[in-house]
Amino acid sequence: MILRLWNLYLLVVVALGVSMSTEARNITDKELANESESADWLAYGRTHSEQRFSPLADINRKNVGDLKPDWYLPLPDDVGLVATPLVIDGVMYFVGTMNIVRAVDAASGKLLWEYDPEVRKVLAGRKQAGWVHNRGLTAYGENIFQATWDGRLIALNRKTGKPVWSQRTFELDEALYITGAPKAFKGKVLIGNGGTEAGPTRGYVTAYDAETGKQAWRFYLVPGNPADGFEDAAMEMAAETWTGEWWKHGGGGNAWHAITYDAELETLYIGTGNGSPWNRKNRSPDGGDNLFLCSVVALDPDTGEYKWHYQTTPGETWDYNSNMDIVLADLEIEGKPRKVILHAPKNGFFYVIDRLTGRVISAEPFADVNWASHIDLKTGRPVEIPGARYEDGRQNITPSLLGAHNWHAMSYSPRTGLVYLPTLHTSMDMDDRAYDDTWYAKAFEGGTAVDWVEGKSPRDYDGSLQAWDPISQEAKWAVPQPLGWASGTLVTAGDVVFQGQADGLLKAYNAETGEVLWHFDAGLGISAPPITYKVNGRQYMAVLVGYGGSYAAGLLPDANNLGWAYGAQERRLIAFSLEGQAQIPGQGPRIYPQPLLEAGFEVDAELATEGELLYLTKTCYACHGSGVLAAGMAPDLRASAMLLSEMEPFFQSVVRGGDRVARGMPAFPDLTDEELEALRHYVRKVAHEAHSANIPD
Ligand code: CA
Repeated sequence: MILRLWNLYLLVVVALGVSMSTEARNITDKELANESESADWLAYGRTHSEQRFSPLADINRKNVGDLKPDWYLPLPDDVGLVATPLVIDGVMYFVGTMNIVRAVDAASGKLLWEYDPEVRKVLAGRKQAGWVHNRGLTAYGENIFQATWDGRLIALNRKTGKPVWSQRTFELDEALYITGAPKAFKGKVLIGNGGTEAGPTRGYVTAYDAETGKQAWRFYLVPGNPADGFEDAAMEMAAETWTGEWWKHGGGGNAWHAITYDAELETLYIGTGNGSPWNRKNRSPDGGDNLFLCSVVALDPDTGEYKWHYQTTPGETWDYNSNMDIVLADLEIEGKPRKVILHAPKNGFFYVIDRLTGRVISAEPFADVNWASHIDLKTGRPVEIPGARYEDGRQNITPSLLGAHNWHAMSYSPRTGLVYLPTLHTSMDMDDRAYDDTWYAKAFEGGTAVDWVEGKSPRDYDGSLQAWDPISQEAKWAVPQPLGWASGTLVTAGDVVFQGQADGLLKAYNAETGEVLWHFDAGLGISAPPITYKVNGRQYMAVLVGYGGSYAAGLLPDANNLGWAYGAQERRLIAFSLEGQAQIPGQGPRIYPQPLLEAGFEVDAELATEGELLYLTKTCYACHGSGVLAAGMAPDLRASAMLLSEMEPFFQSVVRGGDRVARGMPAFPDLTDEELEALRHYVRKVAHEAHSANIPD
């Protein structure tokens, strides 16, 4: 009897112990920097090095052909998915549309908790657009951290999903936003912001105490008005490289993506943004390099103090930011071991940079480049090609504003010594003939101060996956892809490279040769990078399926030809394994919305022109697509009955009244009746033109 009671007592204690425990494993820098830790995916780029290389090899190039879906989680209310999930002790954490964070059992996909920071409520009635995306989370201590579109940095308890603290990193009336993952290191969490094209912005990064949320330090990326005094010596130095009254334009430099922490050298590296506005003639009329635009800036992680910088595009004037990922590696170059940064920014050059000094070791073009002939390794500066600054009024520029590489993560395998680089092959025509030296951006209306249109791709394909050798600075293999905007890459010790494509195919390549070893048709474009992890002895590869990002939002017109119409396909999180037995339902068919004709509607040319300008300045294009050609982030307005005359009251209540805020459509309460009518005339004009051109289906 006593024995049985004792057993019962033990059972109760064990049960209570399990249910009452809210303690999560303490994540430290030691773990975040441990390359051999294999089960988890602890950080955005797996570890502090950002290599996205996993030592797992159960799935390898011999057996990857047997990979099958293991489980999936439907995400019917999500839209654009671009995030890298984290996996810690068998739990996967990811951020979806509208910054909703979820924790799921990484072995079954079962939802454990969900946290909605209610971005739509915070922003109710405000002019914001393009707010559906976020690229990831960061873990430290017992918490997980997210940064929201509206500028909050929030610590969540990993076990419960309950907020621990929340800090506002910019004010709501500033034309800034966040799409990036915060970065945790040394007891702090760092976050920057985006918005270079959204108004006159001045970029900065801020570090907060991971435990308390208290601000530790802030580093500005471009100088402010000298009359107000400089925040630090670095800003005083940077101001020497600007001319005119740049501070009235903000300057830009916003750090919206790459933040890398080097635990070995105790240094932070920040990838900085382009100029605000793009055209240097407006921003800094007498020239100048404009520090720290388009740079890798090294900072002291404890104080935020400047250490060094390397500027990839001095005096930038093409949107060639250096926000792309910053990967840490140890390479043997000319017989010497070197600690380097691998960096492939928009401007088309692949840089190998000395992590200790910031000096460039080598730099070669990894795509077609026509703005600079080469990088002079003595000065570290690009040698520009005459005409590239559109000084003659109009110029074809390669790469385009999308960059030869954008935020789609590259991975690096220390086994093959190769970088797996998602590459874009695009060009643009920049036209400065409407140059106006009195032009200023307005908050939330933005602009670039130079006209641009998409140019013809320099190749007969828009994208490629390249296996780039950072030592010889050449591609060891390359796979052309008809469509650009493929996902970031993952490489493993099984010598397999995984990547998702805009056409919905998820592929596994032989890391040595580029041979396709496996593919899966997800039935919807993939923009988020795959990850891998191990739970209960089983290796998984997982990816968020949901076309997303600015290209997917129709920034360039091709994206609407894929058939990923708004609401037509289900967003999903899918995990694969060699033992997988999940049956995944088929996706909805590709849908190509047909523009509606409104009988008797006469387009007023003047109103339509006013509407076109509003469509740009109110950033309708950020979701509904450039030229009203939506690519799945939002409804195709040409085909929307809501814009027909009989639905006018409904249209008003959605656009001005915010009736669809819950679905991600912001409210524009200040629009007048005439402006709403102008928008309708513009959309009808485009719809009628498309109809008469008999758009292909
Ligand atoms: Ca930009």
